[in-house]
Amino acid sequence: MIKYAGKSVNQGIAAGRIKLYRKEEQSFKRGSEYDPEQELDRYEAAKQMAGTQLQSLYLKTLGSVGKESAGIFEMQEAMLDDLDYTDSVHNKIVDEKVSADYAVSYAGEYFSALFSELEDEYMRARAADIRDITERLLSCLKGGGEKELELEEPSIILAEDLTPSETIQLDPEKVLGFVTRKGSANSHTAILARMMDIPALVNADIPMTDEMDRQEAVLDGFRGELIVDPDEAILDDIKKMKLEKGREIEIDQAYIGRESVTKDGRRICIYANIGDVTDLPAVIMNDADGVGLFRSEFLFLGRDTCPTEEEQFLAYKQAAETMAGKKTIIRTLDVGADKRVPYIKLDKEENPAMGFRAIRISLTDLELFRTQLRAIYRASAFGHLAVMYPMIISVQEIEQIIEICEEVKADLAKEGIVFREIEQGIMIETPAAVMISDELAKKVDFFSIGTNDLTQYTLAIDRQNEKLDRFYDSHHPAVLRMIRMVIENGHREGCWVGICGELGADTTLTQTFIDMGIDELSVSSAFVLPIRRIVCNL
Ligand code: PEP
Ligand code: MG
Repeated sequence: MIKYAGKSVNQGIAAGRIKLYRKEEQSFKRGSEYDPEQELDRYEAAKQMAGTQLQSLYLKTLGSVGKESAGIFEMQEAMLDDLDYTDSVHNKIVDEKVSADYAVSYAGEYFSALFSELEDEYMRARAADIRDITERLLSCLKGGGEKELELEEPSIILAEDLTPSETIQLDPEKVLGFVTRKGSANSHTAILARMMDIPALVNADIPMTDEMDRQEAVLDGFRGELIVDPDEAILDDIKKMKLEKGREIEIDQAYIGRESVTKDGRRICIYANIGDVTDLPAVIMNDADGVGLFRSEFLFLGRDTCPTEEEQFLAYKQAAETMAGKKTIIRTLDVGADKRVPYIKLDKEENPAMGFRAIRISLTDLELFRTQLRAIYRASAFGHLAVMYPMIISVQEIEQIIEICEEVKADLAKEGIVFREIEQGIMIETPAAVMISDELAKKVDFFSIGTNDLTQYTLAIDRQNEKLDRFYDSHHPAVLRMIRMVIENGHREGCWVGICGELGADTTLTQTFIDMGIDELSVSSAFVLPIRRIVCNL
């Protein structure tokens, strides 16, 4: 039995086998001493293997998801024979005597860069397919199997790191928990673990050796440990902890159907944060008073093309209908920084967290923004929706947003499409927004404080950098004073104020927030009832 420590980003216990998820190293030395004939043969064999993999993926997706999604793999299979791509690989191998790996990686970079510069949106999106088939070919050249993280049985995933897109593609039915060697407590991957309500450790000091794969293990999210090959005593201990947790859940269940009101009569809205519609059953089961943060960007992640207006409309409509009259606040697209999508061109930036992201993208790509707003307004006819905008720093931004909303509504009215007037809010995530919150409050209906980014920008600490976790103090007096200031400025102008960052679920601060006058706390579904229990007993 060996114990490894990591930083727990979500509590809970999981027991099962480890699944090692190793990404291939993708850089190749140029070299020029390779035998062209041999390298061409290796390339042909890799192409065949990649083709077979794509065919089986096509059939699998056809059965489980449908023809449209399966078509991607059919198209990728055809792309394997693309003449320009194969000619480029052949020429490099023959003329420069480089390895097949180097030639493929070169062709992949060259053609994906070329495609991503094209005017036509459809062709631009193909850059991601080129990267995909290139990675597949490289893994086949190494004799490797699938690059997808296929889970045959419920498993604990052990990885160097997971991007939000990789996390979102995991089959929630099969992921017992995950452990990463990198990653910070405030990253989106950690937030996803909380939303999926699975135990997870980041920044864990664990070897990524082949022996780890398929080992029996216990992931203890309470103590921050991965115990490999646990002995009987540990398994007994785990059973007891599970029972204890079960009892706590039972106590919390008694708060289902109750109002979240303090003993002296203050009503607090306890809402839930969601990534997409698959999180809605947990919201209902935990009896949240509403959805306080629908991170709409998760509809955009892990795919090759932008979701259409119709696709977005259906997701927002489903949320509105499922919540049956309870409020659902949709946050408009917040990509950039750690959340990257291949079809929105994001240049490499020195400081991505301070770069082209969130509302800055929406106010630059107005078509993208209008499409999302149309989908939200159309869905507003089916329930109680509200909208809010991420990373606001100025009054001018809100004025521009409101103008665009007016245009969108006028268009819908002209087309005879029914919609409702919905509450307009902004996220308070930057010190700038805090300092001018008195002015911003005159323009909107509500504020939702995004403490994850607000802490990052206030303390000048990258939330993604695991080395800085010990300095990332979200209880810092500067952050708490800012929250107080925002609540006071908001209330002075009749705005309600909530917190949707992770700090909202910090039960050691619930009393403090209520004393400050907070109106709403929006947390992962699993935290709704524990917080209601605290509120009702204050
Ligand atoms: C926040 O910054 O606190 C927030 C809720 O937004 P996200 O974590 O998605 O950046
Ligand atoms: Mg944020």
